[in-house]
Amino acid sequence: MERIKTSCDGCAVCCGAQVFVSEGGRVLKIEGDPDHPETKGHMCIKGLAGMELLYNDMRVNYPLKRTDKNSEKWERISWDEALSLISNRLTEIREKYGPESIVVAHGSWSHDHVGISTFFAAALGTPNVMGMDYICFGPMALACHADMGIPTALGFKSFFVSFAIQCLGIFSRLRRDP
Ligand code: SF4
Repeated sequence: MERIKTSCDGCAVCCGAQVFVSEGGRVLKIEGDPDHPETKGHMCIKGLAGMELLYNDMRVNYPLKRTDKNSEKWERISWDEALSLISNRLTEIREKYGPESIVVAHGSWSHDHVGISTFFAAALGTPNVMGMDYICFGPMALACHADMGIPTALGFKSFFVSFAIQCLGIFSRLRRDP
């Protein structure tokens, strides 16, 4: 069993985490990293349950289309069909109501999908992007900035510490398995 030090990507706090992985590459356990200078081994239940994102039977692994808008029945469709349905519908809404009628929303603040949703909104022509960072982490950082002059709450500091640890971990793994 290998122990990989990383950080949880479940929200902007980026708690230090250690993931135990079998030789076959299966995640066996997730725990807080006691050596992390900010979070000191603590993680919330969402981070500790991170394995569910990988292995839960109800995880959606392919596009589904609701067969009837008044029922909860869904059918599997191809990625091409899903993309064309979505792009046709977005084009229709944009032409009929204008691009600003569309809001692009993302989930918990994460390093990658915030950028993707912002670029996607820009491509659609809408300034309306929202997510957890706009109602949770962003106001917290702004309030810290207003109160103390710097956005230095636990989450913000922890983010940079965890990001550095994550980069070092990826770098050392790349050096080991190029
Ligand atoms: S607070 Fe919870 S979800 Fe957020 S980074 Fe820490 S363990 Fe993950």
